[in-house]
Amino acid sequence: MLLRHTPTEITERTALTINPAKTCQPIGAMYAALGVHGCLPHSHGSQGCCAYHRSALTRHYKEPISATTSSFTEGASVFGGQANMLQAINNIFTVYNPEVIAIHTTCLSETIGDDLPQMKKKAHAEGTIPEGKYVISASTPSYAGSHVTGFSNMVKSMAEMAEPKGKKNGKVNIIPGWVEPCDMEEIKRLTAIIGVKTILFPDTSGVLNGPLSGEYKMFPDGGTTVAELQSTGDSLGTLALGEWCSADAARTLDTKHKVPCSILDMPFGLMATDRFIDALRTIAGVTIPEEIAYERGQLVDMISDMHQYLYGKKVALVGDPDQLIAMTEFLVSMDMKPIHIVTGTPGNKFEKRIKEITKDMGCEVNVRAKGDMFLLHQWIKNEPVDLIIGNTYCKYIARDEDIPYVRWGFPILDRQGHQYFPTVGYKGGLRLLEKILGVLLDRKDRDDSETKFELVL
Ligand code: SF4
Repeated sequence: MLLRHTPTEITERTALTINPAKTCQPIGAMYAALGVHGCLPHSHGSQGCCAYHRSALTRHYKEPISATTSSFTEGASVFGGQANMLQAINNIFTVYNPEVIAIHTTCLSETIGDDLPQMKKKAHAEGTIPEGKYVISASTPSYAGSHVTGFSNMVKSMAEMAEPKGKKNGKVNIIPGWVEPCDMEEIKRLTAIIGVKTILFPDTSGVLNGPLSGEYKMFPDGGTTVAELQSTGDSLGTLALGEWCSADAARTLDTKHKVPCSILDMPFGLMATDRFIDALRTIAGVTIPEEIAYERGQLVDMISDMHQYLYGKKVALVGDPDQLIAMTEFLVSMDMKPIHIVTGTPGNKFEKRIKEITKDMGCEVNVRAKGDMFLLHQWIKNEPVDLIIGNTYCKYIARDEDIPYVRWGFPILDRQGHQYFPTVGYKGGLRLLEKILGVLLDRKDRDDSETKFELVL
């Protein structure tokens, strides 16, 4: 009963968040930056922020996360962090020699008004940025938005690296959004089967899910290269997966370099994957390859085989907007009832979209953007659910209320597998469904009377 003080009665709160359903912007910026080959994320602020952001990512990905910091002390906090930044850029290129430094700000450097573009200009003017090396930056104040906003801002700064040569490269940009490294691998596998040449950015596959080789590489082999990022301006088009994570970058390429973009949902579940595959098929001008149709058929088969155990089950969801939109659609398509949905990321569009997806579900849905997990717990107390899907922090609610629970999203701090087993695409749909059925049927086996306890389900 760790959350035993959560009251059932709901009081509207405007000035207090309890158990946030989000984390800080720089964590998203840092994760995105790790998806560029040879990139070192740099935190422009105090050491404590950087240490927290690195440890948050290490705990989820179970990999060492390299990042540097401007190491603000009292002086920088009062007089500004420019001197620290210029020194840092010089030190980083001298000591670590990355291809790119990806700078993000923190609450402190934003509050004192440090101007990153001006500092970059000064570093260029002073010759601190070596020939052929790059410094990109994103403004990521944590008192606005969430880790999703920080991710989006850094991906947008990658799109700003485009340097079109005026000759189409025959490729399609795919911006996958904040998904696991294995999900990025799966997206590349699907595009290769369909026969579409792509530039995927960012791409953390091979960076945060690599093998233990006995040799430490500060810059692992994976990641989108600078040459690829520069070439995004010559691509045939951009598919941005997720409005919150990827759309800003796609629109930047569209506006600046006339690379047309389509904003799709993240390909979680049957219907969102269908739309993604159809978009790729249209671009490639091919019919759906047999291999893809086979995988789709397997997912449909599993849904229809096990539908009786899914039908009408009430679900509570917590996570990030792009993921939750696709997951809600997946659950509704299987006749499940996602009735309580919370994200910590702001955006009224999220609530509107969820209401559209759930409008024919035949019951009321509680949905809140910029909400918290305390509210989710209160909703569950008022109307219990059969299943919770969300990050590791849900384990407290699941334990207190004795509810089956599937870990999915960010962060997952107490289990393994999320880096290696994708949940995007049809194969990912099978994985999600297997996890959902696993906990629901475990509960059934536990609760059934002896006369109803069945060997075959
Ligand atoms: S001060 Fe701001 S950027 Fe730093 S850890 Fe706290 S919320 Fe995140």
